[in-house]
Formats: sequence, structure tokens, C-alpha cells
Amino acid sequence: MAYIKPSQREEFEIAIICGLPLEFNAVSLLLDEYWDEDGDDFGRSPGDVNHYTTGRIGRYNVVLALLSHMGKVHTASAAASIRSSYGGIRLALLVGICGGAPRAVNGEDDEILLGDVIISKTVVQYDFGRLYPDKFVRKNTFEGNLGIPNKDIRNLLITFETDIGLERLQRRTAYFLKQLQANATGRKRQDRYSYPGTAEDKLFKAIYRHKHHIPCTCICRDCNSVSDPVCGEALDSSCEEIGCDSIYLEPREQLEAKRRLEQDRSDKAQEPTVHVGSIASGDIVMRSADERDRIAKKEGVIAFEMEGAGIWEELPCIVIKGISDYADCHKNKRWQNFAAATAASTLKAILERYIQTDKISKESMDPLGRELITQGASRYCCEVRGEDVTQGNELQISSSQSSRHCIVQEGSYFEGVIQAAGSVAQGNKISI
Ligand SMILES: [Zn+2]
Ligand SMILES: [Zn+2]
Ligand SMILES: [Zn+2]
Repeated sequence: MAYIKPSQREEFEIAIICGLPLEFNAVSLLLDEYWDEDGDDFGRSPGDVNHYTTGRIGRYNVVLALLSHMGKVHTASAAASIRSSYGGIRLALLVGICGGAPRAVNGEDDEILLGDVIISKTVVQYDFGRLYPDKFVRKNTFEGNLGIPNKDIRNLLITFETDIGLERLQRRTAYFLKQLQANATGRKRQDRYSYPGTAEDKLFKAIYRHKHHIPCTCICRDCNSVSDPVCGEALDSSCEEIGCDSIYLEPREQLEAKRRLEQDRSDKAQEPTVHVGSIASGDIVMRSADERDRIAKKEGVIAFEMEGAGIWEELPCIVIKGISDYADCHKNKRWQNFAAATAASTLKAILERYIQTDKISKESMDPLGRELITQGASRYCCEVRGEDVTQGNELQISSSQSSRHCIVQEGSYFEGVIQAAGSVAQGNKISI
């Protein structure tokens, strides 16, 4: 089947957002087609400083954005710009790498290994709250708990919590991982995305610190507890350089199972497990096993990352992240490319399951492709964002000042960009 290049920005329904060039590189190996091979034809809105790459994955036109700054504020503003330039986006996918909690606390007690992929059910802003002299209290409000995704996303995610849905997703993830590796080989980057191997998947016991274990004269000599300081040189060194000892590794059943596959020379050893759960998002780089375990237990999160909260506030979003480390002090970069590759593979597998919505007939759309809504003799075109908006709902216009209105309907809060063919006044109602 031949796919037609979109003629305008509004035809793009899927945004893919990456925080690091290495994440972007992995995703770009799985695009089926690029729409900007000969330069960008789509432009952007005034004030939008994002750079976009456009193309197609399966039957979806996708727009890729690479963030240039870390942190929630920058991420949120980049996401708002995507929304303003690409008004037809139904789903944003934040794809990349993150730190993992080694064990999910969902009752099943399943192990999470490096290279596994996490899909966000919710995002928790764990650094949002008050710091008291003796403790930090996370604000348990809407801002702190970023809320549940919209119904469309919830209905998609719930299928990955069924046995058949998860099994299919993992099977297709494994398939696309091989496709990515093959595409990388074609570009002479075959080694970059290969599975680092079970021997490199090291989870140290939470109490075992990353410090000089070899004889030395630095402050590491006096580091005996989980909170004693270690020297800066140790923090910048690898476990091998400073003598972190493998006898302090946690025994892991899933890793042993993979090791047996590896010994059989089965390429199944590299296949990631996909976990659906809550993700902790914050402006802090987590490098403490002690804190990791405490927050994982308290908040029920299985991963730690830094961009999800910013995107989540601006766009309907799913976070898809490959585990590249255990969010502890023994961090290294060995798994980053592979984890970016597994996350990109799950992204493609998810899009395959995402059901395309029929296009609304041209007569009921405005030139930008937004749906027109009729009220009395007036016709509005309105892009409604909000929870639980269904046919028959009425939206009351609360302001006639600008083209962007806040709308209240029976306790629910909507936000919409309204453009009127007729006249829109305060107090007008729109039936969806
Ligand atoms: Zn030393
Ligand atoms: Zn030291
Ligand atoms: Zn170490």
C-alpha cells in the first residue's frame, strides 16, 4: 500500500518526543518513511522553536521532536509548542531511557531487568512538595499526581494488561528490535544496539555503595553507611575501576533464565519484558538505591525519569522508556543505546495496536480539520481537550475575550480553542 504524504500539519496524529540524541537515533531507525528527506514542508506556529522531523510509522504520520533542555519547565513549553503547531495530535509518545526500580511492587513481585521497557499508566511528580528539616512531604494533589490519562489512552493501555495483549506487544517488540538492529547494520552501526549480555546486568545490594573498595587514602575509607560521603573521583569512575565486588550482587531469577538462553545461543535472550506501571518524574537524577527503594515502595512506581511530567501536562501522553540503569550510584552508560532501542521497538509495537479513528467528513470540518459544532444558528469549530467529553455534553463558554477559552461543564473543566463562524458570546452553550 502506498501512503500519501500529508499536505498540512493538522494531518499528523502522533507526536514522538525524545530527550536525548541517542534516544532520537534509535527511534529514527524504525521510521518506515520520511516526509522531510528534501527539507521540511510543514513549518510551525509563531513562537514555536522546536525542530521537527516528519515521517511515517505503519499507517500513522508521525512528527518527531528532540528536546534541547532538561527539566519540567522546558519540557512542558516544548510540548505546548508541539500542540500549537500540530493541532491534530491525538497521542504523544515520550520515548527513551530511564532508571528502573529492580522489582515491581504490584503483588506479582516481578523482576525488572536492564533493557526491559516501562509503559506509563500514571506519572507521579515525586519532587513536588515541601522539604521540612527532617523530611520531604510530597504534595498529594492534582499537580503532584498527574492524574489518569484520557479514555482513549486508558482503553489502549488496559489491553496491555491482559495476557494476550501483553504477549502480543512483547512479541512485536522483539520483532521490531531485530528490525532496528538490521537497519543499524545497514548503516554500519550494528554494534551500537546489540544486547550487552547478562554479565553486564549488575544489580548491587542497596546497601553496597559505589566507592573506592581498593586501598586508598580518600574519604571513601570512612564510608560505612548508606549516607556517608564518598569521594568525587569514585562517583566519576566505573565499578571496575574502584573495585565494586560482584559478590554483592542481588541474585535474580529472570536474569538466570536469560543466562540459560544466552548459553543456548538463543537470540531470545535479548527480548525485553514490557511492564505497565507508574513512573516517577522529577527534575532530580536518581542515583541512590536507598531513595529509589523508598520512593518505589511509597509511591508504587517502577521507574524514574525527568521529562514525563512536563509532557503529561500539555499533551495526551504515554511514556515508553527502556531501563538503562537501576537508578543507583553504580550507574554506567553501557545499556543506554540498547535500552533506547527496546523502547523504540515498543513504540512501534504500540502504534500497531493503536486503532485509527475514521476521519470526520470534510463538510463538518473547518479548513484546519477541526470539527465544527452547531449551536442554534451559529457554527463553531472547537478543539476540546479534557476528560470525559461525550456526545450530548454541553460546554458553556466562560469568556469571549480571546480565541482560547476555559469552559466549565458540571464540575468538569475543559479547555478549548474555539473559532466561530457565527458569534460566540459569554454564556453560549455548545452541544458536542
Ligand atoms: Zn581514593
Ligand atoms: Zn574514594
Ligand atoms: Zn559501583
